[in-house]
Amino acid sequence: FVNSVDEFFSFCKENDVQFVDFRFTDMKGTWHHVSYRMSAVNAGHFENGLPFDGSSIDAWQPINRSDMLLKPDAPSAFMDPFTADPTIIVFCDVYDIYKGQAYEKCPRAIAKKALEHLANAGVGDVAYFGPENEFFVFDDVKIRDEVNCSYYEVDTEEGAWNDGKDFKDGFNTGHRPRTKGGYFPVAPIDTMVDLRAEMMLVLEQVGLEVVLGHHEVAQGQGEIGVVFGTLVEAADNVQKLKYVIKMVAHLNGKTVTFMPKPLYGDNGNGMHVHQSIWKDGKNTFYKEGGYSNLSETALHYVGGIFAHARAVAAFTNPSTNSYKRLIPGFEAPSILTYSSQNRSASCRVPYGAGEKATRIEMRFPDSTSCPYLAFTAMLLAGLDGIKNKMVPVGPMDEDLFELSLNEIREKGIPQMPHTLRGALEALIRDNAFLQPVMTPEFLDTYQNYKFETQVWPDEARPTAFEF
Ligand code: GLU
Ligand code: MG
Ligand code: MG
Repeated sequence: FVNSVDEFFSFCKENDVQFVDFRFTDMKGTWHHVSYRMSAVNAGHFENGLPFDGSSIDAWQPINRSDMLLKPDAPSAFMDPFTADPTIIVFCDVYDIYKGQAYEKCPRAIAKKALEHLANAGVGDVAYFGPENEFFVFDDVKIRDEVNCSYYEVDTEEGAWNDGKDFKDGFNTGHRPRTKGGYFPVAPIDTMVDLRAEMMLVLEQVGLEVVLGHHEVAQGQGEIGVVFGTLVEAADNVQKLKYVIKMVAHLNGKTVTFMPKPLYGDNGNGMHVHQSIWKDGKNTFYKEGGYSNLSETALHYVGGIFAHARAVAAFTNPSTNSYKRLIPGFEAPSILTYSSQNRSASCRVPYGAGEKATRIEMRFPDSTSCPYLAFTAMLLAGLDGIKNKMVPVGPMDEDLFELSLNEIREKGIPQMPHTLRGALEALIRDNAFLQPVMTPEFLDTYQNYKFETQVWPDEARPTAFEF
């Protein structure tokens, strides 16, 4: 909406803006904000930054080194569609005043550094990312019924979760979609038509270019397709998209989750990421006559992502729940190979896309990732693949969910890690490819943070299933 700091202030004046909401993203992808009165904001803040307490953000600064700065990015500004009073939101990067540079643990600053690395690598001048964030909509009051009771009966007497019978099958679901029955019957089975329409319209208000919306395969699952962008742009758009989708649901008495696998036995939520690299206005991933018109550059890029996938997963699949999605049979991948059209492969090449639209779709990532870090990790792995001419296993055009473990081993197809621990341990061994933009201090903090907040608490708890 604005191109410069000057334009920012004239825009605010014209639109009678009352509050400026400064936002930044932490390492787990959570958006944080602080709202200033319009009268208290001046051009100096855009140059010199605004202070905040860096010790109160998970795994950032120690208490005795807590003064940090937010550096607002004026062209990222957009009006918040949900506030009662006119409020403008501005994306910020975090600045480290002790070191006098962009903060090494700020994901958005890391993503910007990745762009410099892309420019230096000489492979291309722009990388495009097209994420697809699937989600579930639950009725606030029904979460227990729908999500939990279908697998574990609640013993209200005892107040405990008991391993109970699955009464979902044989249960009369009326007009509601059955397991895997959501793709895509019309209303009244699809009850979310108006809800998605409202989401799509609000997404346009905040500057996203919306293409389509539809019910997804699982019960209560949806997806809204928006146009791709450059790395930072696309990651900013993920933050906006999650905010809008959650807020519209919330205002309609619903709850949205992007968690990878909320329901046992039904499809999960992916964040497939379409990717291509362009140079001098040309798509470097396209070569007529190659497999699915892919160039060697594209194949090396895929080869790099696959070679480093176990470590990349620490950023693209960074929750314990992520690995409950990466199992055969639910359109989510578990083995690392590529194929045209094939939704059982980790990398699908959309069929017949033509010169401009030729791209690769990485299907393993999910929305528990911080988008800035997830895109950065894939880009760096891909660039390493191009540099070292890495070659992926494939193409494999058969239904990969049918392969037995023995066949997977015999064919030498690498696999995604099966746990977050596996991914983090891979990251400890394999991180040189990330070091052009991620510092050892950042990597160390990230690994420890994920062990402490995800792996250990999960590993220590007996589950209902085990019980
Ligand atoms: N929901 C599937 C996943 O977990 C993907 C379905 C699709 O191809 O859009 O990745
Ligand atoms: Mg989908
Ligand atoms: Mg997709």
